[in-house]
Amino acid sequence: MFNSKTILMGLIGHPVEHSVSAQMHNAIYKSLGLNYVYLNFDVEKDYLKKAINGAKALNVLGFNVTIPHKTNVLNELDEFDFMANMIGAVNTIHFKDKIAKGYNTDGIGAIKAIKEKTSLKDKKVVILGAGGAARAISFQTAISGISELVILNRSLNKAKSLSYDCERILKENLEELENFKEFKPDIKINYGELDKIEEEIKDGDILINTTSVGLYPNVNQEPLAKAGILHSDLIVNDVIYNPLETRLLKEAKIAGATTISGVKMLIYQGAESFKIWTGIDAPISTMEQAVKDAMDKIMQ
Ligand code: NDP
Repeated sequence: MFNSKTILMGLIGHPVEHSVSAQMHNAIYKSLGLNYVYLNFDVEKDYLKKAINGAKALNVLGFNVTIPHKTNVLNELDEFDFMANMIGAVNTIHFKDKIAKGYNTDGIGAIKAIKEKTSLKDKKVVILGAGGAARAISFQTAISGISELVILNRSLNKAKSLSYDCERILKENLEELENFKEFKPDIKINYGELDKIEEEIKDGDILINTTSVGLYPNVNQEPLAKAGILHSDLIVNDVIYNPLETRLLKEAKIAGATTISGVKMLIYQGAESFKIWTGIDAPISTMEQAVKDAMDKIMQ
């Protein structure tokens, strides 16, 4: 099955056993008849540099990067694309001619999932959370033509710092951002504590939960918004994909809102990584099936 021509791909993180990326990517290779294999590598912090150099030595084509290495790995890479540089985090590495180049496809994945339901032009987006996923999604939404971005978080200092970073970094990159057709430089960026949610979503268009509230096994954890404050004009995206339908999404459905599961972001960020590595469009339905099968096994 594998031979000397098999191309090695993988995920580096710590821990990695919760991930379904290997099932998702190996399903792509199988369906397209590619002689590739994708493995999970549990890499401890002190071994990150060695892992990147080892990958170069072993002619690995690509890595995905997950917690806790998405930021630290920047120090070990040779080049970054523009978005990864703005976000300050990498979830995809492409190795070519012993050069390791970093990308961030998390935000692209989330935006692609939202764009299936609505355009982002002139929309007000409310993001819950200010961690790694929030950071990638904040930058990506901020350059997608929205008029207002509000970041709400349990720890106010983190929401403040992310919103300030967003504002400052967008300003520093205005010249380059002219190449992004959708970007509107007059975007308003605000922050606050989670209790501001009711007020902020009244005239909000898109609510994105990037906190881990509701993540398996805490699936019954009280969601940060319930049907009573959600409304039917909202698009509610939960980036959690385990469970496929979180309590927040169930509440959103009761309120008549449009819902988007985190599995879409997972699949589209994976498809974008695959395209970076191979130049080929990924078979989305194959990926969806592979993720569903993997999730069914986890839940058994
Ligand atoms: P981080 O640890 O960087 O951030 C976690 C965030 O959740 C912080 O804002 C934290 O707030 C908040 N939070 C945690 N517990 C609570 C709570 N009890 N009440 C309120 N807020 C809380 O994690 P990531 O950003 O990397 O990941 C967040 C989620 O996104 C995870 O569930 C992950 O699985 C999912 N994810 C999904 C992806 C996809 O492809 N669909 C990709 C990446 C992530 P505070 O700052 O106050 O601690």
